[in-house]
Amino acid sequence: MRIDVVTIFPGYFEPLRHALVAKAVEKNLLEVYIHNLRQWATGNHKSVDDSPCGGGPGMVMTPTVWGPALDDVAAGTGPVSTACRLTSAAPHANKPRHDDLSGTGFSGYTDTAWIDPARGEAPCDGDKPVLVVPTPAGSPFTQEQARQLAAEKHLVFACGRYEGIDQRVIDEAAARYRVREVSIGDYVLIGGEVAVLVIAEAVVRLIPGVLGNATSHEQDSFSDGLVEGPCYTKPARWRGRDVPEVLLSGNHALIDTWRREQSLRRTLSVRPDIIDRLADDNALSTDDLEYLAQLADDAEHHS
Ligand code: SAM
Repeated sequence: MRIDVVTIFPGYFEPLRHALVAKAVEKNLLEVYIHNLRQWATGNHKSVDDSPCGGGPGMVMTPTVWGPALDDVAAGTGPVSTACRLTSAAPHANKPRHDDLSGTGFSGYTDTAWIDPARGEAPCDGDKPVLVVPTPAGSPFTQEQARQLAAEKHLVFACGRYEGIDQRVIDEAAARYRVREVSIGDYVLIGGEVAVLVIAEAVVRLIPGVLGNATSHEQDSFSDGLVEGPCYTKPARWRGRDVPEVLLSGNHALIDTWRREQSLRRTLSVRPDIIDRLADDNALSTDDLEYLAQLADDAEHHS
């Protein structure tokens, strides 16, 4: 996969030079290029913003800078043609980690549910890069979207600042990109850089070969719709608190049942909306429904 990021703060992306993302770079599973938007700014002050049409507070990022930048990123021309690849800050010297040793194959994802016919997109638009525009006004970013992006060859991220990017940039980019306006949550950040780090990390860990043990993400929160239950390691007793006995039993059927129940219990507690949605979609098993009914009974007894 290739990732291009356009930003006025390239220094924000230092974290991509560390840990698992850097390892993906070292393994040539990922190429990352960070572009300073001001390379496309003209004028003495290299300004990238202007006052909002219609009045109001703040500044808006101008299409006259963003347009040429996104043209060059899509075509690999101008400053993009000579940009340097991001390198790992501390090469891992090919040392396998414990989870590299138990890896299993992973064939990627093919779901096309995220294609937007309103933008005139068809599944065969697959050779256009995806332009991800973080914005609080976008559709909520989910694990499912991370899975879909992980199957892409080329992602481009446009980091907004101030009041955001002139909407015509995003509308016009649809000629060269499949555009995704995404929000990482119902709050407002200062700029898009942190949102891009969040999205990039969620996506990169799902690229086949990045996680040594491909099964580990299959058990993560949201992979089956639910959040994951609690996890434990040694010692078996710590400050008077024991690891749940079942996890030390060696009985994997019992452990699987316990984990599923803990997952249901925690999801019901922190995200009851997910339980409702899975129930509406008939995505809960009879055992799941019986356990949830038992939890409801227990709660009634204790109230
Ligand atoms: N005026 C915008 C609004 O009210 O929707 C907020 C702009 S915000 C101060 C500046 C930039 O931060 C946005 O263009 C976007 O790139 C980023 N940003 C802020 N909150 C975000 C969120 N929840 N998800 C994704 N990006 C966000």
